[in-house]
Amino acid sequence: MTDVGLSEEEVRFRDSVRAFVDKRIAPNATRWDLEERYPRELFAETGALGWLGVGFPEEVGGSGGGPVLFALLCAELARGSAAAALGLYVHSALASAAILHLGSAEQQARYLPDALAGKRVGCWGYAEAGAGADVTCVRTRARRDGDAYVLDGAKLYITNSTFADFMVIVAQTDPERGLKGMSLFVVDRGTPGVRTGAPFKKLGMGASEMTEIVFDGARIALANRLGDEHLGFIAALKVLTLGRIASAAFGVGLGRAALDEALRYTAARMQGGAPITRHQFVRFTLADMATRLQAAWQLTLHAARTVEAGGDHDCAAAMAKLFATEACTHVCERALHLCGAEGYMRESAAQRFYRDCKVLEIGEGTSEIQRETIFRHIGR
Ligand SMILES: Cc1cc2nc3c(=O)[nH]c(=O)nc-3n(C[C@H](O)[C@H](O)[C@H](O)COP(=O)(O)OP(=O)(O)OC[C@H]3O[C@@H](n4cnc5c(N)ncnc54)[C@H](O)[C@@H]3O)c2cc1C
Repeated sequence: MTDVGLSEEEVRFRDSVRAFVDKRIAPNATRWDLEERYPRELFAETGALGWLGVGFPEEVGGSGGGPVLFALLCAELARGSAAAALGLYVHSALASAAILHLGSAEQQARYLPDALAGKRVGCWGYAEAGAGADVTCVRTRARRDGDAYVLDGAKLYITNSTFADFMVIVAQTDPERGLKGMSLFVVDRGTPGVRTGAPFKKLGMGASEMTEIVFDGARIALANRLGDEHLGFIAALKVLTLGRIASAAFGVGLGRAALDEALRYTAARMQGGAPITRHQFVRFTLADMATRLQAAWQLTLHAARTVEAGGDHDCAAAMAKLFATEACTHVCERALHLCGAEGYMRESAAQRFYRDCKVLEIGEGTSEIQRETIFRHIGR
């Protein structure tokens, strides 16, 4: 995607991530996908490079930088392996970011240096059997009991939860108050009354791992509540809005990988004595794919720059997430089509992209939720 508007520092950063991804991630992505096991060593490796700390201040072990650097990071990582990028993203931009934005100085000191170095891994537990698009449906309950809370309930589809060392959990502390009765807790693995299940089988994102987390009378110390009682989740919504820009960047990166694969195949594939790019259909399809991705990237950058300028980014982030993730799905489907039977084989990259892309339209607020958000801003 075009460099116009990127500073020298941003280009340098992107190029260093790109070189790592090309050497360390992209060549292993198909194997990791087939093995269906998260490459956990990536946490320590990217932590040592300072990338888990992008967007975090140096005082807590971070590397500084803001949403533009983070979007560049996500786009490049997702280009190499969307599943590997997902695990890193959930750890850094959801679990660790919640501790940064809501945690006390003591909680930040307790969790962030190790988390940003990739020595301890986090997950983000919001979703439940009954709580998906509608955030007010959370039923996991945290009841105050002396100097602790007692957690009961279950979280579902939680990325990294099979191995995470700490879990940031959304729970109701006052069911009468709806969204204003939901708090956040950081729960350490090994806490009595907390158990995780076996990894779930999924359509895509094969290398990422997810399962359920069950709380059965788990006592969580008061000191592990993040932010104010009842208001933690509302405060965390700010973190989730930023996550939409990262999702958009994921879409651009994954889409870029699919476009590259389609360009490679169509240039090399000979039919009737010539490469299939001699057909106008093939050339136009590739041109449309590239154009959608360019538009998606510009919307993503615009949303990230809006945050950095201190503007209201809610609508810009929703537009970027909506457009980029739907563009990604389109591009991945076209790439598979252009790669023919070879692309359909289980070892091919094209089919992996096709399976990986769909979840980007579902997580971090589905496309419908983004459209509702956009209409709230433009409607009269
Ligand atoms: C690979 C993967 C990884 C995940 N990782 C995590 C994680 O780490 N942590 C976590 O907490 N969760 C995670 N999730 C779960 C994710 O948060 C939910 O999938 C997401 O919130 C959507 O909820 P749902 O799947 O229950 O969809 P539902 O809420 O059941 O929605 C189904 C459909 O109905 C539509 N719909 C629902 N309500 C409305 C409405 N009001 N208006 C219009 N349309 C509507 C939706 O847009 C969607 O198309 C993950 C999911 C996947 C697939």
